[in-house]
Amino acid sequence: MMPTTEETQLRLAGIPNLTVSLHTPLARYTRFGIGGPADLFAETASPDAFAQAVAAACAAAVPVMVIGGGTNLIVSDDGFRGLVLRYNAAGLTVDGTVVTAQAGAVLQDLVDFANGLGLKGLETLAGIPGWVGAAVYGNAGAYGHSLSERVLQVRFFDGRCERAFDNAQCEFHYRESIFKRHKEWVIFSVDLGLTPDDAAALTKTSADILKIRNEKFPPTMKCAGSIFKNFLQRDLPETVAAQVPSAVVREGKVPAAWFLEQVGSKGTRRGDIRVADYHANLIYNEGAGTARDLCLLIADLKQRVRERFGIEVEEEVQYVG
Ligand SMILES: Cc1cc2nc3c(=O)[nH]c(=O)nc-3n(C[C@H](O)[C@H](O)[C@H](O)COP(=O)(O)OP(=O)(O)OC[C@H]3O[C@@H](n4cnc5c(N)ncnc54)[C@H](O)[C@@H]3O)c2cc1C
Repeated sequence: MMPTTEETQLRLAGIPNLTVSLHTPLARYTRFGIGGPADLFAETASPDAFAQAVAAACAAAVPVMVIGGGTNLIVSDDGFRGLVLRYNAAGLTVDGTVVTAQAGAVLQDLVDFANGLGLKGLETLAGIPGWVGAAVYGNAGAYGHSLSERVLQVRFFDGRCERAFDNAQCEFHYRESIFKRHKEWVIFSVDLGLTPDDAAALTKTSADILKIRNEKFPPTMKCAGSIFKNFLQRDLPETVAAQVPSAVVREGKVPAAWFLEQVGSKGTRRGDIRVADYHANLIYNEGAGTARDLCLLIADLKQRVRERFGIEVEEEVQYVG
């Protein structure tokens, strides 16, 4: 007979350096402020404890989901029937021009750390919410640069043991990495190769970006940033690409927002979930929004774009439960 949730909790509670709770509301761990309870929720800064927790869950046939800062998640209203795990080691260290960041470090802290040391390469990532692990997983980026440009090595847990990949092995592309295709792999840390530069100038670049971003995405807004991925212009069917004004194409990318705007996305709402009046690809929770309304609104927008342009807008956001 399979162990009950309470029995699994007892096993998890026996693992040193792991904090465990039962029936934990996930809304409090997501920036959308949406999501029902996880049967089990556990956090640790210890790679050993993390591995033991995964092993205990597997032995009990309990599904595992790893999350970070929760800024890019849509969690079902019913929550998650299994164990939600966070690896929250947050150390940042430097050796020459190589910065090592643990997966649980806040990305903005990493940007500030590198800028302060006069190391160039991360300054345009200022203001991207979330933790370092997920930034590697989704190859986070902004202002024409992505984290992958600076990745030397990623250390991760493959479900059984710790391994390391160099940049090429991570198979980074626009908002993609090999880790997105191996959901059971968990990033523990990353080495980033940076370039000496002027600390004050780097700090100013980040501050300028942060100011613009805070106007577009107010820090208290319950959202996930852009819901849909932008398109690489070369991937669009010719007839569709021909309809896009050249002024909206940036660095070879066509914003999903352009297509969404053409189909009347701005200001659309469903319950407390709405699309911003000023940004066709920004959906937020006005207060009491539900995952159900959020998913229905997303499906409606996808259908509108499909019918008008014959293309699929694809979610950047990740689903849980
Ligand atoms: C206002 C706003 C603006 C944003 N702007 C940008 C932007 O400009 N550019 C951009 O790229 N993104 C942007 N995002 C999206 C988001 O910030 C990034 O996707 C971020 O990297 C998510 O980090 P997180 O820690 O919150 O991850 P979570 O939302 O917790 O998780 C996201 C995914 O990462 C996986 N994951 C988490 N930790 C690990 C780990 N250690 N190992 C393996 N997988 C893991 C999870 O399983 C999940 O699938 C924005 C979001 C918001 C709210």
